[in-house]
Amino acid sequence: MAPSRIEFAQHAPIDAFGVVGNELAFDGVPLSRLATRSGGTPFYAYSRSAIRRRVAELRAALPRGVLLHYAVKANPMPALVQMLASLTDGLDVASAAEMLVALDAGVDPESVSFAGPGKGAGEIEQAVAAGIVLNLESEAQALTAIAAGRRLGVAPRLAIRVNPAFELKGSGMRMGGGPKAFGVDEVRVPGLIRRIEAEGMGIVGFHLFWGSQNLDALAIAEAQRLSVDLGLALAARCRVDAPRWLNIGGGFGVPYFPGDRHLDLGRIGEAMAPLAQRVRAEADMPLVIELGRFLVAEAGVYVCRVLERKESLGQIFVVVDGGLHHHLAASGNFGQVIRKNYPVLLGNRIGESARQVQTVVGPLCTPLDLLADRMELVPAQPGDLVVVFRSGAYGLTASPTRFLSHPAPVEMLV
Ligand SMILES: *Cc1c(COP(=O)(O)O)cnc(C)c1O
Repeated sequence: MAPSRIEFAQHAPIDAFGVVGNELAFDGVPLSRLATRSGGTPFYAYSRSAIRRRVAELRAALPRGVLLHYAVKANPMPALVQMLASLTDGLDVASAAEMLVALDAGVDPESVSFAGPGKGAGEIEQAVAAGIVLNLESEAQALTAIAAGRRLGVAPRLAIRVNPAFELKGSGMRMGGGPKAFGVDEVRVPGLIRRIEAEGMGIVGFHLFWGSQNLDALAIAEAQRLSVDLGLALAARCRVDAPRWLNIGGGFGVPYFPGDRHLDLGRIGEAMAPLAQRVRAEADMPLVIELGRFLVAEAGVYVCRVLERKESLGQIFVVVDGGLHHHLAASGNFGQVIRKNYPVLLGNRIGESARQVQTVVGPLCTPLDLLADRMELVPAQPGDLVVVFRSGAYGLTASPTRFLSHPAPVEMLV
């Protein structure tokens, strides 16, 4: 079934799902039926076909030979990781637990890489034993990995995560440039290469990750160009083995908030073509990009049910059975400076045209538990299904599920 385009007054349109009657639908299955299947609300649902379409769209835009990795922390649901393992060229994990999920999905350990500024000695040992790639974020991590390799009689796969000297403007979260907890400062990398090579080991690759949630194609293209310049310069310093790939990060954003527009993928692809060629010609390496949010955010929804409608001093509050404890990001408390609304609507009243300014709040005893602040929505009644779109990434696992001790929601891959 072809997806329908759902338009919003202020948010970028959604075209990941279908509509059946007045209901949002996942491959023909209406939302109310999904709510019954899940055992009730609230729940998260992720659309397989939407994920497939997104990966296809991205592959079509990227130059040939660029490898695509999925960053598991965006959504580590095992069934979804399994699916993305089959659609991508590798997985990036940020903990030993994520590593186990990635390996369970059947991915070749050489195509799994492990980033994170605080890898414990135990986690490093697990990674070396598994044969995955360690993206080293410090000299200390390198020494721990080398020692683990000696103990286990296994050659560790060592890559270096570089904290580049450049900084990217317009990223939701900056993770490179200036003093950072992430990666090894650009100026210290040659020294670390020498140190590792003195142990008789080579560097398998370089990793640069300069930020996240960027919607500016030109800014991303510029960061990629600078990353390639730097990666090639560092690769030229390797003596023992030539590095096998250059991971230039990701950072592709999705339009969450009023006024945000979809990223211009065509533009990014055009700018990447000469870079991929250069890296191939000068160092015989593939370029790797790693994306989390961009692959899954728009394929997921969070759904909760209206418990009550109440009025306070002229303002309409719609109280629902889910909120901040399941979806911190939509409440505006996950890295946002100024709270803005995610795209929200009533998933069982899509065709209706009446509108009323309403505020959707969750069941927690805190004013932070807000899913939509004074939004124009179809007038809600108890039993209606409130849908928060663009919820496939940094949803459940980025939320304080223990706060107030309500039950956790079900997650479904549909
Ligand atoms: C979080 C993270 C990602 C994924 O970022 P998205 O914005 O979800 O694409 C990729 N790589 C590293 C190293 C990360 O820490």
